Amino acid sequence: MTTIFARIARGELPADIVYQDELVTAFRDIHPLAPVHVLVVPNAVLATADDLTVDHEAVAGRMLRVAADIARREGIAERGYRLIINCNRDGGQEVPHLHLHLVGGRPLGPMLQRR
Ligand code: AMP
Repeated sequence: MTTIFARIARGELPADIVYQDELVTAFRDIHPLAPVHVLVVPNAVLATADDLTVDHEAVAGRMLRVAADIARREGIAERGYRLIINCNRDGGQEVPHLHLHLVGGRPLGPMLQRR
């Protein structure tokens, strides 16, 4: 079982990688929605947030901390940014490999459209 994001983490597919360690890889989104749009993914395949268990606390915490570090390095931390994890169909998840979106560099507006 592999995914495009696992292949990016293994160096098998090209990506603009901004950070990598033994647990996570961060790379720029190929279709950025804001001046800064980075995806932070576990190196190991983990399909969705719905698959997280107590065994994943280290990798989940690492994803958050790495995203905050990248935001500071990209110079967007003080003005602010948004972290997003889409899960499954209603959440709008397109790639079946857990990923945390770090988006910022412009005002992002309301979190969701009101219906
Ligand atoms: P989601 O809708 O949460 O599953 O988001 C998937 C994201 O992955 C989208 O923002 C895509 O633009 C991005 N994406 C898909 N393929 C690649 C790729 N090869 N490299 C970088 N980003 C990608």
